[in-house]
Amino acid sequence: MRDRILRFMAGRYGTDQLNRFLSVAALAALLLNLFLRVGLLWLLALVLLGLLYYRTLSRDHAKRRAENARYLQVRARVLAPFANLRDRWRMRKDYVFFRCPACRAMLRLPRGKGKLRVTCRKCGNAFERKS
Ligand SMILES: [Zn+2]
Repeated sequence: MRDRILRFMAGRYGTDQLNRFLSVAALAALLLNLFLRVGLLWLLALVLLGLLYYRTLSRDHAKRRAENARYLQVRARVLAPFANLRDRWRMRKDYVFFRCPACRAMLRLPRGKGKLRVTCRKCGNAFERKS
């Protein structure tokens, strides 16, 4: 039995980040369907699962890798605004974070140093700010 499964899976694409996302999204749709009874969410879950199995069992590795790369690009763009949130949270006691009034770049100052003269590294705008 194990041999037959291995032979069946030989040359198949397997899983990647996009497939992981598809399985989580399908599960989320199924759970939402269970609690909200919206109706067509189970159909969405079915489509997502179909896509997941199609990609997992596919033999066209180049196409699947390209899809995954596109997914990773989109994901990076969507998550970019939240990228430094964890760092900022960890450093919140030592630094104060704020945006440059001219170019909106994220800047930080050590906390509790009084009024400081700030020069934005991105645009060169200089201003004073309490730390
Ligand atoms: Zn600036």
